[in-house]
Amino acid sequence: MPMRPDARGYFGEFGGRFVPEVLVAALDELEAAAYDAFDDPEFWQEYHAILRDFVGRPSPLYALERYPGAHARVPILIKREDTNHTGAHKINNTVGQALLAKRMGKQRLIAETGAGQHGVATATVGAKFGFPVDVYMGEVDIERQALNVFVMKLLGARVHAVGGGTRTLKDATNEAFRVWASCVEDTFYVIGSVVGAHPYPYMVREFQKVIGDEARAQTLQRFGRLPSDVVACVGGGSNAIGMFTAFLDDPEVRLWGVEAAGAGLTSGRSAATLALGSVGVLHGSRSYVLQDANGQVSETHSISAGLDYPGVGPEHAFLRASGRVTYVGVDDVDALAALRDCARLEGIVPALESAHALAYAAQLAQRRGADDLILVNLSGRGDKDIGQVGQHVAD
Ligand SMILES: *Cc1c(COP(=O)(O)O)cnc(C)c1O
Repeated sequence: MPMRPDARGYFGEFGGRFVPEVLVAALDELEAAAYDAFDDPEFWQEYHAILRDFVGRPSPLYALERYPGAHARVPILIKREDTNHTGAHKINNTVGQALLAKRMGKQRLIAETGAGQHGVATATVGAKFGFPVDVYMGEVDIERQALNVFVMKLLGARVHAVGGGTRTLKDATNEAFRVWASCVEDTFYVIGSVVGAHPYPYMVREFQKVIGDEARAQTLQRFGRLPSDVVACVGGGSNAIGMFTAFLDDPEVRLWGVEAAGAGLTSGRSAATLALGSVGVLHGSRSYVLQDANGQVSETHSISAGLDYPGVGPEHAFLRASGRVTYVGVDDVDALAALRDCARLEGIVPALESAHALAYAAQLAQRRGADDLILVNLSGRGDKDIGQVGQHVAD
């Protein structure tokens, strides 16, 4: 059984609740509602019915045929979260949180977003369930992600520009917490990854673990054995946790979390929080943070907006400390090459985030043999990244 955090919301020494007093009661209420719902089979029945009919689950498991490494006769399987409605794993989580909001009698959803994917996934469930949605987004991101802003508005959400700091995801998250503190009574804050104060990291994991549960069963059914290696990209860490959770109790399965090494791990321009960060508090929990000696949060860089975040979920900090998961970095150049290879050799355009995991799988395949089986979480599709990629991938 995957572990629940302790009574104070900690995974080992990571997690907890570092929030202003006004939010404590709201988090207590949310924790009680989540634990109650998780013990209710009817809640899960409704959740899985929506994932089936609205999201399109189970997502397929596909064996790559021509991608590098698949050449070397090492099967590389991809879990196709790119086939989900709205194009990534994020919808699994927003469906779960919207159901919880309904169960709690909340009237409105708010969310932060960086690249806009979580904003779109929240606006989508807002429309489906009839909740008004307010999305907080940095000014810089609003400019970079104009298409997603348009989609959110089309879905009926209001998008609020956040001007402070670097005007990106970190600042949008601060603003969403600030707004939530002013309206906790009737408003549900939908967080987009396994980050934030307890119970969010645990709750979001429970809504994403469907990825690994399906993939584990699909792999066993098709190959009669478990994968030797499981690979997933890590931004805040939700698609990775969702995949890893099903394999934590299988010691023979090696787990790899891939962070964005940006312009290179030693370049000073990356988002490799576990590789380069130190223990600190960001957005309500204790984990690893990219920060300077004074605790000032560093600017990050990755070609993929979804990995461009200076924090990481507390359970990942714990899984690294325990040695169960190994965290590695893949840089912008290698991620772009993997995206291009997957597009041209497989007919699948992955998200830039997912391309980090694919790139590492190709490296792993060189060290593995025919008895091995590499499972990659393809967290999303690349349509959103076409503008970005077009600048870099020549014909
Ligand atoms: C948001 C996003 C990520 C990064 O978020 P995690 O919480 O680390 O999963 C990865 N892939 C895609 C496609 C995304 O949209």
